Amino acid sequence: MDAIRLTDVSRIFRAGMMETAALEEINIKVEEGEFLSVMGPSGCGKSTLLNVMGLLDRPTSGTVEIMGETVKSLSDKALAAFRNEKLGFVFQSFHLINTLNILDNAMLPLLYRRMSESKRRQAAYEVLERMEMTHRLHHYPHQLSGGQCQRVAIARAIVGNPEIILADEPTGNLDSKMGAEVMSILHKLNVEDKRTIVMVTHNELQARETTRTIRMFDGHQVG
Ligand code: ADP
Ligand code: ADP
Repeated sequence: MDAIRLTDVSRIFRAGMMETAALEEINIKVEEGEFLSVMGPSGCGKSTLLNVMGLLDRPTSGTVEIMGETVKSLSDKALAAFRNEKLGFVFQSFHLINTLNILDNAMLPLLYRRMSESKRRQAAYEVLERMEMTHRLHHYPHQLSGGQCQRVAIARAIVGNPEIILADEPTGNLDSKMGAEVMSILHKLNVEDKRTIVMVTHNELQARETTRTIRMFDGHQVG
C-alpha cells in the first residue's frame, strides 16, 4: 500500500488580485517504509507540500490519499481524528507549548484518544525514555537546549504511534552535532520501527542518506 498518494494536487493561495500557485499538478506516491526527502529553494512549495500531505491544509484541487484513505470525503472533525491517529509532525522550530512541561508536551496528541490520564502519562514517559529525556520531565521547553527540544518534539510526534512522520527542516535550528543526533533518531524510526518519513531539508548530505529525494522548483516537482 502507498502511505501517501497525491494525484494532480494544486494549492493556489489567493490574496486580492494576487494568485500564488504553491503547488501545481503534483503527483507523488510515497510507499510504506520509505524515508523521502524533499529539497528545493526557499518558496518552491516544500512546506505547502508537507502541510497538504499532513492534512493541515486542503489542496485547491486534486486528491490526497493517506494509508489508502481518500481524505476529501472526511468532515473536519473526522479529518482531525484521522490526522491524529496516522500522522506525527516535527517542525524546525519545535512548536512545543512553553507553558507545559516536557511530560505534558509529550502527552498532547493523546488528549484526543480515549485513554486514562495514567495510560497517557505512561505512554509519554516511554517515548521520552527512548529519546533519553526522562531526566527533564518537569522542565519547561525554555530550560532545554535546541537538541533536547527537538527530542521532546519527536517524542510527541511518535507518542500516538502514527504510521507516518512528517518533518519540516527538523535540524534547521540545530548545530551539526545535535542535527546529527536528530537524524540518527529519524533513521532509527524508519529502519527499526518501519515508520514512513517525509522530510524537508536543505542539506544534501542528509538527503543522500534517505531512501529517495524529490526536488521542487516553483510549485513543480523537477526531479
Ligand atoms: P517553501 O517551504 O519551499 O519555502 P512554501 O510552501 O512555504 O515554500 O511557499 C510556497 C509559495 O506559496 C511561496 O510563494 C509562498 O509565498 C506562498 N505561500 C505559502 N503559504 C502562503 C499563505 N498562507 N498565503 C499566501 N501565500 C502563501
Ligand atoms: P544536548 O544534550 O541536547 O546536547 P546540551 O549538551 O546542549 O544538550 O545541553 C546540556 C545542558 O545544558 C542541558 O541540560 C540543557 O538543559 C542545558 N542548556 C543548554 N542550552 C541551554 C540554554 N540555552 N538555556 C538553558 N539551559 C541550556
